[in-house]
Amino acid sequence: MNTHPLPGAPHLAYQGPDLMLEGVRLSDLAATHGTPLFVYSKAAMLSALAAYQRGFAGRKARVHYAMKANSSLAVLQVFAQAGCGFDIVSAGELDRVIAAGGNPAWVIFSGVGKTRAEMRRALEVGILCFNVESEAELEVLNEVAQSLGRRAPISIRVNPNVDAKTHPYISTGLKGNKFGVAHERALSVYQRAASLPGLEVVGIDCHIGSQITTTSPYLDAMDRVLDLVQAIEAAGIPLRHIDFGGGLGIDYNGDTPPAADALWAQLLAKLDARGYGQRELMIEPGRSLVGNAGVCLSEVQYLKPGEQKNFCIIDAAMNDLPRPAMYEAFHQIVPLRLNSAAAETVYDVVGPVCESGDWLGRDRALQVQSGDLLAVLSAGAYCMSMSSNYNTRGRAAEVLVDGTQSHLIRRRESHADQMQFEQLV
Ligand SMILES: *Cc1c(COP(=O)(O)O)cnc(C)c1O
Repeated sequence: MNTHPLPGAPHLAYQGPDLMLEGVRLSDLAATHGTPLFVYSKAAMLSALAAYQRGFAGRKARVHYAMKANSSLAVLQVFAQAGCGFDIVSAGELDRVIAAGGNPAWVIFSGVGKTRAEMRRALEVGILCFNVESEAELEVLNEVAQSLGRRAPISIRVNPNVDAKTHPYISTGLKGNKFGVAHERALSVYQRAASLPGLEVVGIDCHIGSQITTTSPYLDAMDRVLDLVQAIEAAGIPLRHIDFGGGLGIDYNGDTPPAADALWAQLLAKLDARGYGQRELMIEPGRSLVGNAGVCLSEVQYLKPGEQKNFCIIDAAMNDLPRPAMYEAFHQIVPLRLNSAAAETVYDVVGPVCESGDWLGRDRALQVQSGDLLAVLSAGAYCMSMSSNYNTRGRAAEVLVDGTQSHLIRRRESHADQMQFEQLV
């Protein structure tokens, strides 16, 4: 059995033989709502947010939840009610913020491919800032804003060229990435932006990657960004805010990322030392606010012993939990009840989808038999929001736990739901 603490503790813990999320027995939720089922702890989300808020106490700072990590409406509602702004990457996400009761005036809009229609929508609702990622985008945004008789508030995403030492698919701050404007180009891009009548320069931003588990890439990036702030302001372009992006890692498999408040104590010390501690600060965490707050419940369908591998085939799959297939990512997989009589065996835990890439965990020692229930842990971020209907599998249902209460926040997708936009010729 597992020896280190469960990711998601203290909100996720065994009580006797039963895995509980806050005060709710997870096997009860599986019985009520079926599987696969995502379950999130409201307290775990709020305590992750509180670590940032403690770190920023006394500063002019705001957390903008990077909602692509988990964009379910009730999750957005929790963060909106807790005073968060949002970092969005599409106009669809903007409409989700509004539907969840979020404040559009606290939205920042990131992404390399914003369309004119998305820019118009964001200008009409009056978002806080466009995080512009290229010179071409600057020109288009200027045109769109002028056509509406507006000035678009902008920040330029600069690429500090630091190695976040994370998976190549989730590293974004290096020269070879599609994101942001190169450090060397940044000043001239700011000068161009300041000369365009449809734009108002308000800030600077960076985002160097995701699942970052050490402090040094952040400190390096901050130094590089502050060098630019100094140069841009020396050129007569004032910057109201500095936005340091997101990217803080979580515990998937005994990972020990810095706590948000400890990380920010170090970053604020550097900001103070360089004289920028009283600037308006923004950050865009996604994974670290929701990742360890969620689990995905699944039922064992079949055990399939083999010569080289034993397979444990479960009813969740790559369409529900795409991270292992996409990034060879690791999620812990544990039983919902500890009392199985089955012998411990090493399995590859796989889904039913017709792809060899459809695995959820490799070489896992489990005591299971058909019909047992498992939880895939650290499943609150980049799981449901990345899910698909591949193999015509309906998307899972979602439940939000709050103390001893649980609320269904998304019903399971039916076959009819999946076919509703199609027609025969
Ligand atoms: C994805 C993303 C984030 C959030 O990253 P996490 O690793 O989930 O914290 C923040 N800012 C931008 C621009 C992003 O694309």
